Amino acid sequence: MSLMKPLTEQEIRAAFVNCTKGEAKRLSVPRDLADHPWDDLDYLGWRDPQSPERAYLVLELNGHPKALVLRSPSPTSWQTRRSMCSMCLTTHTGGVSLMVAPKAGKAGQQGNSVGAYICSDLSCSLYVRGKKDAGAGARLHESLTLEEKIQRTVTNLAAFLTKVTA
Ligand SMILES: [Zn+2]
Repeated sequence: MSLMKPLTEQEIRAAFVNCTKGEAKRLSVPRDLADHPWDDLDYLGWRDPQSPERAYLVLELNGHPKALVLRSPSPTSWQTRRSMCSMCLTTHTGGVSLMVAPKAGKAGQQGNSVGAYICSDLSCSLYVRGKKDAGAGARLHESLTLEEKIQRTVTNLAAFLTKVTA
């Protein structure tokens, strides 16, 4: 039920919409791309191992990969609070981060950004599928099918991406 096809490093670097080409060339892309569970991913998300406050995500929109640069402020008090990911609606205690994306183009250069609360480990796809456990009470009791939950996550991600590129 994957919505992504495996991507190469070059495809990912070329997909960034909210940073300069130079940044996209230099930023840290996972080396083990072939080993990612693509079949279970609605988006690929990762943190920069050298600077964990930098995060990235790639999703496919109308068949085209689009990638975002995100800033996630250092852990503070929110980390111990119980909060809900605005993409996959999983509730974690201390596992949701405010991720801030500079807007694409001129608006971003002028310092405008868009923020969203997202699973800190960027594993929404795995929480939705029950392949990763966020603890008791993490999932709402819903009558939606898995496919509908996946679709909702993708819709939320696409809406976030649209705000960044608007
Ligand atoms: Zn999530």
